[in-house]
Amino acid sequence: MDVRDRFLMAGVMGWPVMHSRSPALHNYWFAKYGLKGVYVPLAIEPGRAGAALRALHPLGYAGANLTIPHKLEAMAAVDTLDPAGKAIGAISCVSVSPDGELHGSNNDWYGFTENVLEAFPDWRADAGPAAVIGAGGGARAVVYALAQRGAKEIRLINRTQERARKLAQDIPGPITLVDWQDRHDALEDCAMAVNATSQGMQGMPPLDISLERLPRHALVTDIIYIPLETPFIAAARARGNPTLNGLGMLLHQGRPAWKGWFGLDVEVTPELRALIEATI
Ligand code: NAP
Repeated sequence: MDVRDRFLMAGVMGWPVMHSRSPALHNYWFAKYGLKGVYVPLAIEPGRAGAALRALHPLGYAGANLTIPHKLEAMAAVDTLDPAGKAIGAISCVSVSPDGELHGSNNDWYGFTENVLEAFPDWRADAGPAAVIGAGGGARAVVYALAQRGAKEIRLINRTQERARKLAQDIPGPITLVDWQDRHDALEDCAMAVNATSQGMQGMPPLDISLERLPRHALVTDIIYIPLETPFIAAARARGNPTLNGLGMLLHQGRPAWKGWFGLDVEVTPELRALIEATI
């Protein structure tokens, strides 16, 4: 049946979930493309993601996004998994096939890449060493993205070395582990530096790193988007580096979700960006 002849449904499963910008993002696309449908916040308690995912098909949902704390539990509940989800070790999206099979994917890495390419179309991951600070779920998506784009050297800096070592074991790529105390010097010669820690997020202290050694032409990005300008981004901008916040990563990861759920290609427009920025 054509998508125009159906009421389309999807949602985001999280706990808590009411802070999520995903409903505003996806409901914009229903309105923009003149489709009947809805994207809802689904407050699913920890430990119940599997049961909730299995209910999607009988309820007529095309799929769902997953946010904290479900990205790992959901992986065990799906029937098939995309290569990114397998490597990253977490999924951000589930699509339901017509026969009820659940397909899990991680679209965060795609969102990261598309965000950078939208702002810097000539960006190349192999332009020079890339420093990634962090080794959590977000950092895993960033490292996977950089490796996919042909990065030649990824300097992985994390406070807890063991977590960084595990990331390097799981995700194939040219990863060099950097001790936390060497983080400032590790930015020397880098073409890119990415904050993928939670430091700098609203309510958290700034990331403790000096940009002194970082070349001024290096692209500085943060995957955080609340606030839109973290202290890390502000410091980089003040010294003349090109910078980019994490909002586009959130917006662009929605595109492959729509392809999987409804078979449609959707666009990240300036209007959409402004709509979500206004909620931050
Ligand atoms: P996570 O899995 O909890 O990882 C947190 C990371 O921050 C770890 O590397 C942790 O290091 C580090 N960290 C925490 N406190 C620190 C401190 N005091 N000093 C140094 N490092 C510290 O979190 P996540 O899911 O990766 O999310 C990280 C951020 O990215 C969040 O703000 C999230 O909202 C954002 N994010 C954005 C998008 C997007 O679409 N834009 C997607 C995913 C995530 P240890 O290993 O040492 O604890």
